[in-house]
Amino acid sequence: MRYIRNKITDLLFPRRCAICDKALIKDESGICPDCLKRIKYIEEPVCFKCGRPALNNKEYCDECEVTRHEFIGGRFVFPYDYIGASVYKFKYMNRPEYIAFYAKAIEERLGEFIRHIDPDGFIPVPIHKKRYIKRGYNQAEELSKELSKLTGIQTYNDLVLRIKDTVPQKKINKIERQINMKKAFIVKENSVKLRKIIVVDDIFTTGSTIDSLARELKKSGVEKIYFITITAAGT
Ligand SMILES: [Zn+2]
Ligand SMILES: [Zn+2]
Repeated sequence: MRYIRNKITDLLFPRRCAICDKALIKDESGICPDCLKRIKYIEEPVCFKCGRPALNNKEYCDECEVTRHEFIGGRFVFPYDYIGASVYKFKYMNRPEYIAFYAKAIEERLGEFIRHIDPDGFIPVPIHKKRYIKRGYNQAEELSKELSKLTGIQTYNDLVLRIKDTVPQKKINKIERQINMKKAFIVKENSVKLRKIIVVDDIFTTGSTIDSLARELKKSGVEKIYFITITAAGT
């Protein structure tokens, strides 16, 4: 019965390719065979800090050489010019089915990075309640839960609360971003005693969101903070 119901749902609401959005005939990898042939990833060498491609084999990218971050380091999987439109649809045009593809790519490409960190848990960047009601889901939380299924590392999605409904980061400059993110989060009691965590989000922009979250997490006893995203702006 369930099988038949799933089949009917598939016919009425076919799953879509996470890259070109065409309906998938056979949903194996979350993208269509044409897109699979042309898939593009971030390649090494990357900046030790933010994971952006690092030129001339330098340890840090130009941005990270002059910026102090609260997190130790992070990585992402896809160049923005390749995956940006897909992430936009995922966020604003109700395509939660793309998550399976993103999570699988993260696990495949960054599995070693994650295992090396050996974190106590994933913490998705929370969205404000108002935004949650409007959108119906928090994209970072859904991604984090999918990653939990693949890695066995638990997602803690009710530890942090977003208390400020901030302006979307892409619309403002770097200084405005830092002001925008001031006191945007509060951490509820860290009763699970997490020491080492990976923050999960969809897009890394300047790092001010993750820095702001990391600052609060440190106050509640988290010592080491890393991040993982699908992509980063400007790549
Ligand atoms: Zn496609
Ligand atoms: Zn960097």
